[in-house]
Order: sequence, then C-alpha cells, then structure tokens
Amino acid sequence: HCATTKETPFSGKLIVLTGPSGVGKGTLMRSLLQRHPELYYSVSATTRAPRPGEVDGTNYYFISRSKFEQLLAQGEFLESAEFAGNYYGTPREAVLSQVQSGKLVVLEIELEGARQVRASFPQALSIFILPPSFEELERRIRGRGQDSEEAIARRLQRAKQEIAAADEFDIQIVNDDFETALNAIETALYNRE
Ligand code: 5GP
Repeated sequence: HCATTKETPFSGKLIVLTGPSGVGKGTLMRSLLQRHPELYYSVSATTRAPRPGEVDGTNYYFISRSKFEQLLAQGEFLESAEFAGNYYGTPREAVLSQVQSGKLVVLEIELEGARQVRASFPQALSIFILPPSFEELERRIRGRGQDSEEAIARRLQRAKQEIAAADEFDIQIVNDDFETALNAIETALYNRE
C-alpha cells in the first residue's frame, strides 16, 4: 500500500484547515485534493457573490442571506460564521455521512468556524496555516485584486486576530515555500506520530 491509502493514526476522520484569508490555504487545499483524490472536500455555503471563475456547487454553494438563515435555523450547518460581511457554513449532513463512511473529510474554514468544529469534534485534526509575515499576507491579499479597498481592510483586520489564535490548533504550518507547506500538510495527515 502506498502512503495515500495508509490508515491515519489519529482517531478522527475530520481535518480542519484554517488560517487567515490570503494565506494560500485555498491553493494548498486544491493541490492536496489533486494529490489525494481519496479526500472528501466539504463545499461550503456562502452568501458572498461568486468571484470571476468560481462555480456554484464546486467552489461554494452561493445562496441568499434568507436561504442561509433558514438553513441555519434548521440546524443544517456543522459550523458557521460571518466573515467580511458574509455568512459561510459547512453542510452538516454531507460531512457526517462521509466521515461515517470512513472518508477523510477536509474543511477549509476561518477561525470562528474552526473553533466550533474543535469544540464539537475534539478528535478532529486541526491545522493552522501561517503567512511568513503580516506584510507578505497584505501583499497577497492586495495582489488578488478582486476585492474592494473596504473588503481588503476588513480582511487584514480579521487576519491579525486570526494569526493570534494559531496556537489553539494542533499543528502550525508556515506557507512560505508552497511545496514545503504542502508536504507538511501531507505529513500531518498521513504520517502523524
Ligand atoms: P473567501 O470569501 O475568500 O472564499 O473566504 C473567506 C474566508 O471564509 C476564508 O478564510 C475561508 O476559509 C472561510 N470559509 C470558507 N467556507 C467556510 C465555511 O463553511 N465556514 C467557515 N467558518 N469559514 C469558511
């Protein structure tokens, strides 16, 4: 058996990838999924508008605020949070059924949601992605060039708060060199002591 099919040593089947907006966790996540098609990526619901190129049902389920509030009230989210003026949430049923079927399920979510998941599933493996520096993070967020100045300011403010919470999580990985960071995530998932 190759490393990708090896049974993971941690009891939980839930992996939480968190870290500030712009840190590159989305890109790390995509590469991780390409290398490990056995992983189940949980597609979140959001009230944010799609960015150019984003596909409904692939990147997110893009839904209205009223629909989000309805689903939230019905208990359909495993966790949810407001981020930069929009709601984000992880569909409960899809994640739990995948975990029950024995799949490794990966959530890529912000801090508040990651805290909720840790509280409900203490056996989940949580990974915090850090930027090499705050200045570098600011460059990356601005370089994306798709958000308004106001949205950028909110994301930077939030990023500061999130970075301060890195220690709450099982593993911290600095995304300086992309390949190194990706390998560190793989090691955390498949070769944990
Ligand atoms: P973006 O708008 O840039 O796609 O995402 C903004 C932030 O929301 C990112 O930090 C992303 O990881 C986080 N996020 C995406 N989906 C969810 C979710 O379902 N729940 C929570 N709590 N955060 C999410």
